[in-house]
Amino acid sequence: MAYRSPLETRIAKKTTRAITDFDMLEDGDRIMVGLSGGKDSWALIQILDVLRQRAPIDFSIVAVNVDSGYEGYQHAELSRVCRERGWELHIEHTTIGSIIDDKLEASDTPCSLCARLRRGVLYRLAEQVGATKIALGHHQDDFIETLLLNLFFAGALKAMPAKLLSDDSRHVVIRPLAYVSESEARAYTREMGLPIIGCCCPACGDLGLQRQRVKRLILDLEREHEGVRNSMLTALTHVVPSHLLDRRLNPPAALRARARATGAPDDASGAAAETAQPLRLHRSTPTVQ
Ligand code: SF4
Repeated sequence: MAYRSPLETRIAKKTTRAITDFDMLEDGDRIMVGLSGGKDSWALIQILDVLRQRAPIDFSIVAVNVDSGYEGYQHAELSRVCRERGWELHIEHTTIGSIIDDKLEASDTPCSLCARLRRGVLYRLAEQVGATKIALGHHQDDFIETLLLNLFFAGALKAMPAKLLSDDSRHVVIRPLAYVSESEARAYTREMGLPIIGCCCPACGDLGLQRQRVKRLILDLEREHEGVRNSMLTALTHVVPSHLLDRRLNPPAALRARARATGAPDDASGAAAETAQPLRLHRSTPTVQ
């Protein structure tokens, strides 16, 4: 099967690179795609279906929609599209929306609670549909926004894993669009004629949410300095542990031993760390467009 457009070719290559870099797929996998009906999840299932037909390994796809119970959600449209494209779909009706209303503290934002609740449902459904892996539609913009959110508001230097083993080791979550930009996912969904279905959540698009603020910040910076987004993405693949203050990465005793081994005085251990070669944590740097 040939790719149908330059955009599909580009997205397929980026997705394949992420799958390869992080060893996301194996022969015989049954991939459960979290399908919200938003642009990202449509782009994900579409490109996985394309890759499935070209891949040298066998894997299958099942879409799962976790309905939060908000009035007006267009299940019928989601079902119609999946039926027409031959995508197996399971819709799980939940009361996540009202649980959030009940449990949310006034000072909190709903999204982290929502994500936790949805994750629990996805894990349960993965067992129900016999999935070996759960694929989510997070793209590279999500990675850098999460990096800044954690940096600014959570006191942690981390983005999100491209591949994650759940705490109980029973589930593997993968993010095959890690190298695909949000604008590419949006354009691809449009090009493939997939209808974007709103989640009907009242918080969706709330410009007061921290994530929306970070999104605007990146956009503003990008206007002033083209390439800011690329730089942040490259930074995620180019970590220099010696230049961070986490002593788990830089145990003082190890620095002292290294200074002794090189003949430098003990008080030069800091300088030794200063000139240490950057450590590449991943095998490749994504090409960002
Ligand atoms: S906007 Fe609504 S549906 Fe989306 S993560 Fe936040 S609470 Fe959940």
